[in-house]
Amino acid sequence: MQGMDRLLELQEVDSAVERLMARERALGSGQELAAARAEADAAEAALGELRLSIDALARDQQRLEHEIDSLAQKAAAEEKRLYDGSVANAKELGSLQHEVENLNRRRSDREDEVLAILEEREELETRASEQEAAATSVRARAGEVAVGVTDELARIAEDLGRKVSLRGSLVPLFDPELLELYEEMRAQKKGVGAAALVEGVCQGCHEKLSAMELDKLKRTEGVKRCEYCRRILVL
Ligand SMILES: [Zn+2]
Repeated sequence: MQGMDRLLELQEVDSAVERLMARERALGSGQELAAARAEADAAEAALGELRLSIDALARDQQRLEHEIDSLAQKAAAEEKRLYDGSVANAKELGSLQHEVENLNRRRSDREDEVLAILEEREELETRASEQEAAATSVRARAGEVAVGVTDELARIAEDLGRKVSLRGSLVPLFDPELLELYEEMRAQKKGVGAAALVEGVCQGCHEKLSAMELDKLKRTEGVKRCEYCRRILVL
């Protein structure tokens, strides 16, 4: 039958067109780009959270440092009174002494808190700079994806144009009946209407044909079909 020897070539073109169109649809849906942008947004949000935590720690540190200054000033003033002779009463001196100790203890506690904050800040700042690098790189990648999508869509449009014109030049080579059967099979069989027979195995359904069936096929004039999937077989 006319065109039988070119049928696999047509099948290849048709499969390529389907793949290109599927890819075009996937790119057109914008899912890849949306996913890349969402990833970048999430990385930036995480960085924002870290920076807020660092700012909160800085405010706590500043508040504690003011408190430490004021406690130190109070202690110094009380200490001065303790030794400048302005207080003579023993009981009052004792309570003054006690007050100085109390102020110094509070100051020392605040200083410990500042040290803990400094440690925590350092850790958060390390994480923030790592997160910043990560956010910058995923944002850049999202940009690359956007450019990549545009480029790939342009390449697909070009490829599709070539395949469609190749198909147009192949079609007249086929017997109309063969072409009709091929199209019918393609519609029913996930886009594959014709398959090669390789070492007795149909490449459409991957079933091995029996020796008897193979023998029958070899002697068949005209269109050969797979006994399992009914696709057109090209020997
Ligand atoms: Zn088959």
